[in-house]
Amino acid sequence: MTNPKPAGTPATASTARQWEGDDPRARHPRHHAPEQHQPEPGLDVKTDPVPDIGLDSYTGLGRLEGRKALITGGDSGIGAAVAVAYAREGADVAIAYLPDEQPDADRVIAAIEEAGRRAVALPGDLTDTDYTAGLVDAAAEQLGGLDILVNNAGKQLVADTPEELTDEQVATTFQINVLAMFTLSRAALKHMGPGSAIINTTSVQAYNPNPLILDYAATKAAINNYTKGLAQAVGPRGIRVNAVAPGPVWTVLQVCDGQPKERLPEFGHDSPLGRAGQPIEMAPAYVFLASGESSYVNGDTLNANGGTPTP
Ligand code: NAD
Ligand code: MG
Repeated sequence: MTNPKPAGTPATASTARQWEGDDPRARHPRHHAPEQHQPEPGLDVKTDPVPDIGLDSYTGLGRLEGRKALITGGDSGIGAAVAVAYAREGADVAIAYLPDEQPDADRVIAAIEEAGRRAVALPGDLTDTDYTAGLVDAAAEQLGGLDILVNNAGKQLVADTPEELTDEQVATTFQINVLAMFTLSRAALKHMGPGSAIINTTSVQAYNPNPLILDYAATKAAINNYTKGLAQAVGPRGIRVNAVAPGPVWTVLQVCDGQPKERLPEFGHDSPLGRAGQPIEMAPAYVFLASGESSYVNGDTLNANGGTPTP
């Protein structure tokens, strides 16, 4: 089928059906974000433009009624969009985030409560192994159980050359992106039974590594591999494990030296859809993978990257 044209495109003799609003190129703006910088971890509310986490748009259909979810990095960006969507689909939601991110977390907690669901705030640092070891139990205790874990927290920091990438940075990136995922998933399995789901955030970087973020890209390949392995281990128990692999999504991660800042104005423009994605565009994938609708999808990676080919 021919792609419909964005609103405002001059009419031609084409017979392609015009379906305004569903054109993926025009559904969200093609931003030229200003060059900007925030120190890690940064705040959505200070990002220009503010990433769209679906506060004004996501409508739930009861797909996750009565479910209980923990989402790491649930304060901002993709994790925040998932938290808002899960609550509007009927789930109680715990979010984990760094204490400095409280202003972003407050927005998400308010949205969960406005949806009529229980919100649990669990600030802490995933490089603190005591916090990480207790996080899942704390979430389960305050939610009254746990049947969805979204391992979404992530660190991405550019290093201009391979020589400038320090062992310390590599270790921290692997701790947050990979080792914490092992700890949290292991702890979550104690609480989970048939119908539960673990969803990991990986990246298009797992297959197409950008040489400026070698450590980050390697963690994402590891996450894909772990997802497939764990799915085989726990599928027989009725627990599914999948991943979502976003492409370029406009979030504060990119603004905190996740990209060279001169690349921010054109961020995502090289995607086949010509623009960066917004966090809210990732949320339906996480809803699908958590809900029973995806009951025969296990050990998979759902790519939401605007069209970049993947293996
Ligand atoms: P984000 O900055 O909004 O979210 C990342 C979150 O990770 C932060 O909010 C923070 O709470 C958490 N985090 C980082 N360090 C932490 C630490 N030491 N302890 C506890 N939490 C910590 O950015 P985002 O883009 O929404 O990132 C979410 C996930 O999406 C990450 O795993 C990222 O790798 C992945 N991803 C992002 C993109 C993109 O283009 N934005 C593309 C592919 C994958
Ligand atoms: Mg954040």
